[in-house]
This record gives sequence, C-alpha cells and structure tokens, in this order.
Amino acid sequence: MAVATPYSEKTDEQRAITEMVRQFVDEQVIPIAEEHDHEDKFPDAVVEQMRELGLFGVTIPEEYGGMGLDLTTYAMIVEELSRGWISVSGIVNTHFIGSYLLMKFGTDEQKEKYLPKMATGEVRAAFSLSEPGLGSDVAAITTRAKKDGDQWVINGTKMWVTNGLRAGLVFLLAKSDPDADPPHKGMTCFICEKEPGAAENTGDYKGLNVPPQIKKMGYKGVESTELVFEDYRCPSENVLGGEEAGVNKGFPQMMDALEVGRVNVAARGVGLGQRALELALRYSQERRTFGKPIAQHQAIQFKLAEMGTKVEAARLLTVKAARMKDAGERSDLEAGMAKLFASEAAKEVVEEALRIHGGYGYSKEYEIERLYRDAPLLLIGEGTSEIQKMVIGRTLLKRNKI
Ligand SMILES: Cc1cc2nc3c(=O)[nH]c(=O)nc-3n(C[C@H](O)[C@H](O)[C@H](O)COP(=O)(O)OP(=O)(O)OC[C@H]3O[C@@H](n4cnc5c(N)ncnc54)[C@H](O)[C@@H]3O)c2cc1C
Repeated sequence: MAVATPYSEKTDEQRAITEMVRQFVDEQVIPIAEEHDHEDKFPDAVVEQMRELGLFGVTIPEEYGGMGLDLTTYAMIVEELSRGWISVSGIVNTHFIGSYLLMKFGTDEQKEKYLPKMATGEVRAAFSLSEPGLGSDVAAITTRAKKDGDQWVINGTKMWVTNGLRAGLVFLLAKSDPDADPPHKGMTCFICEKEPGAAENTGDYKGLNVPPQIKKMGYKGVESTELVFEDYRCPSENVLGGEEAGVNKGFPQMMDALEVGRVNVAARGVGLGQRALELALRYSQERRTFGKPIAQHQAIQFKLAEMGTKVEAARLLTVKAARMKDAGERSDLEAGMAKLFASEAAKEVVEEALRIHGGYGYSKEYEIERLYRDAPLLLIGEGTSEIQKMVIGRTLLKRNKI
C-alpha cells in the first residue's frame, strides 16, 4: 500500500474508496436527500446500499468481516457521505463509535458475538450518554445500574439517542456506584440489546421503551429519541470489557470513544462545508446581476475565497487528528481543534453560501436551505464548541506548564 504524504494526499486505496463513495453519494444520496428531509423519512434504500458497500464495517477488522481500514480513511468516507446528507453519515457514526468501543475494550466473546453482525450492518448501534438533565456534564449522569445476581437492573431516561429506535445495540453509560467520589469513577458502559424498530421491548429486552422521535429543525430522516429504562435487565457478560475489567470503568472508555467521535464530527463539517462551497460556486456563475454573473463581483469572489480556505483548513486539521490517532499518538488536543474549527467553519460557509443564493437560498426548492438547518447540529453533538474550547485550553496549559 502506498504511503500518503502529509496531510491531504490520499493513498491509492483511500482514493479508490472515496471515489466509490462519492459516486454513490452523487447517484443515490443527493437525489433523494431533499424529499427525505422534507418528509423526515428514514432512507431505507440508501442504508441497504450502504450495507452492500460495506460502509458499516469500515474500521472493523477483516477477521470479523469488516474492511479493517483506519480512522483516516473512515474520516474521508464520512466527509463524502456528509457532502450528500449528514443524516446518512449519522446513521453510520454512532455505529462506528459502538464498534470502536468493542474493538478497544470488548472481551473476545463480546467481539465475536457482535462485530460480525455489526460489520454487515445487520445489527446497528447507538451510543447513549446524554439525559434530559445533562449533556456536557457527563459525570452528572443519573441513570442507575444495580447488580442483581448475574444481571444489572437499569433505571433512568436517556435523551437525544441517535438511531435510538432502529439500533439493535445501545452502548449505554450508567451509574453503577452512586457513592463513588468523584462520581465519574462509578460509571459503567453496558452493551444493551434491544429489538430494532420496537417502541416497546418485550421478552429478554423488557423494560426498554422508545418514545416517539424528537422533532428537530434539521438532521431529519435519522431518528433522535429518548430511551426509557424501567427495570431493564442487562446480563453481567454485557458489561463492556467484562465484569472484572469493565465495572466502574465506563467514563474513561466513553471519553476515549468521544475522541474519535470528534474526528468523525469534524469530517462531517468538512463534507457539509464542501457541498455548500460547490453549490455557491455553481450558483454564483449562473446568477446574473448588473449585467454579469455574480461570481464576477469581487465581493462574491472574496466570499468564495474565504469559504474555500476554511473548508481546506478544516480538512487538514481533521486528517491530521485522524492520522495521529492512527499512529497511536495522543490526539485529544488535535481532535478537539478539528471538531471546533470544522464545525464552526461549516456553519459559516453554509451561511455565506445561503447569502450568495439570495432569496432562493431561503426557498425549500434549493438544497442550501437544508444545509443551513443541518449545520448547527455539528456545533452541539460530541461536545459543544464551548466544551471543545475548555478541552483545548486545558490541554494547552497542561502541555506548556511553566
Ligand atoms: C440531534 C442530536 C443528536 C444527538 N445525538 C446524541 C447521541 O447519539 N448520544 C448522546 O449521548 N447524545 C447525543 N446528543 C446530545 C449532545 O451530545 C448534547 O446535546 C451536547 O453534549 C450538549 O449537551 P446539552 O444539550 O445538555 O447542553 P448543556 O450541557 O446543557 O449546555 C448548554 C449550553 O451551556 C454551555 N456550557 C455547558 N457547560 C459549560 C461550561 N462549563 N462552560 C461554558 N459553557 C458551558 C454549552 O456549550 C451550551 O452552549 C445529540 C444532540 C442532538 C441535538
């Protein structure tokens, strides 16, 4: 395999796979995105094709039926998917975080049980930290897990679970030791099985209910739900990493997963920004005012220049953070910077593209209107911009202590 040069070049394999995904997005995703967005409809046919392309197993090792590719290649794929519609990348993203948790912390039995079905997308995963009363302050989680024989009994309500209805697995963070001081030392990650698509689970999964999906301004098509646990029973063998290694170790496991999750959101920002730039470049050459295409007005050219520069800078930060993680280096600072910059850049680039579209940008007839509603999610998910700044500031100070 050819070695890529820093930071934006792609290996032959990366080029081949991203071109394949771009073609898929151009032919299958972009043409259906508007209709599905307007009707808030899940893209079943697209998901089926993504399964066939192996996109649910990009980073899962080949021995479990995945492609065995690295985070950098995954980020490049996410950029392409998000260029089409971020909801489609959202269907893969929590699944990717679940598979990362299993690959890094799971027991051999857990990997063998779940990874092959996850690699094909037969079983899809959700990732659940947030609750109605908290998002940024993960250590304040109240969902309670109590040991009862060889099971854990879980009670509590989770909020904002992407893929909450259709997922068959939920990687759930719950409080296992209420007396732990500090509280984050008393949390465990549970692999909760459920019936995909069932609002009310029965049988072995009794006690896990999914209320109707939350209505959102954008990021449509993929469901975001609450999850209500009422005496839901999770077998001890489903403690991530096994009981001995995993009980009360959930917080650092989830924080580790959030690091790759941030690269993932950064890549979504790059894809969204890239699409907005493409739409603006096209529209500005078609639309005429004062006798010439608006692209010939310097004010518009300056906008395009700033937009293109921001998208490229976001891409470089994202690829750098992914490559560092792949090289086994610490990348919390870089992942935070990439997520902060790429999500803010996406929001700004999308707004400029909307302005370039004039009144038509405000019309549902034009794709940019959807991008304008989708972009703000990236400022929130996987840690808000404020939280990224806290992480970045703290890490800079720690690394440069006088
Ligand atoms: C569409 C969607 C999908 C999501 N999917 C998932 C999912 O799959 N799984 C999951 O677990 N969660 C998910 N989330 C939840 C998301 O991670 C949280 O919304 C996010 O972490 C912010 O938490 P919060 O909404 O509770 O805001 P809060 O934590 O209440 O923050 C409110 C405001 O205060 C700011 N703030 C908070 N603390 C500080 C501080 N110390 N200093 C300065 N400012 C601060 C925040 O930046 C924000 O501006 C999703 C959210 C959305 C909208």
